[in-house]
Amino acid sequence: MAQAIYINGEFFSREDAKISVYDHGLLYGDGVFEGMRIYNGKVFALEDHLVRLYESARAIALTLPIDIDAMRSAVSETIEKNGLSEAYVRLVCTRGSNQLGLDPNRCEEPQVIIIVDKISLYPEKFYTEGLDLITASTIRNHPAALSPRVKSLNYLNNIMAKIEAIRAGCIEAVMLNHKGEVAECTGDNIFIVRRGRLLTPPIHAGILEGITRNTVIDLAREAGIEVSEETLTRHDLFIADECFLTGSAAEVIPAVRLDGRLIAAGKVGPVTQQLNKLFRDHVSSI
Ligand code: PMP
Repeated sequence: MAQAIYINGEFFSREDAKISVYDHGLLYGDGVFEGMRIYNGKVFALEDHLVRLYESARAIALTLPIDIDAMRSAVSETIEKNGLSEAYVRLVCTRGSNQLGLDPNRCEEPQVIIIVDKISLYPEKFYTEGLDLITASTIRNHPAALSPRVKSLNYLNNIMAKIEAIRAGCIEAVMLNHKGEVAECTGDNIFIVRRGRLLTPPIHAGILEGITRNTVIDLAREAGIEVSEETLTRHDLFIADECFLTGSAAEVIPAVRLDGRLIAAGKVGPVTQQLNKLFRDHVSSI
């Protein structure tokens, strides 16, 4: 089946799916987005993603051209047209086009774009052997500048940290906040296990409130694991018994080394394995 990309109510082939070079999404990163996963033909946690999208839009004073019900239908229609049962959905809403110049009020219609594509997961060996991480020198956006809770099209902050990771031979980097505390990774949230407790930075550390993060917290509590949202420092990562990352694309992925130092024995730990399995079972039963 050919790829069908949704733009404001119409479908286009990949080659013909285009928006204006005057769109403020391109000119200024002025817009918001979501990344979701389809399992067995259904979007995992669609409502949570839609709520986060509309909240991100509100936070940047962007009025989306369709309401949440119409957006849900647009996502479903796009998935049906693409006929993929295991896939990734990228939902992008831009401010729309205008003359050059920052003023968003003069933008014409916001653009809603929905792309359904095959998933490009991290190679399987990282799930069995664990990731190598570095601490990026690029800190996460200061929440008073651009809140990391907003999933905006301006990802340069994370991209700078990703460049550092790749230069160091890693695929993810830990990002600290403006206070030097652990925030999250460039495209994933972070967890550690310490003395049987699961710990993850709180939202006010300046992170995206990941939907996988929230799901893993719920699954861990249901499994009787104590979970706490606590301020973490690099020191906490160095002395952790286990560490793993969460994200819609990555799911639950172990991390075994930070800045060249092994985390515990440098092996994927039992709680990580348990939560990875609980998460995979959970998403395959939707
Ligand atoms: N943090 C950042 C910066 C992200 O971009 C993402 C999404 N890729 C996440 C965390 C994980 O969020 P979710 O579980 O909702 O995909």
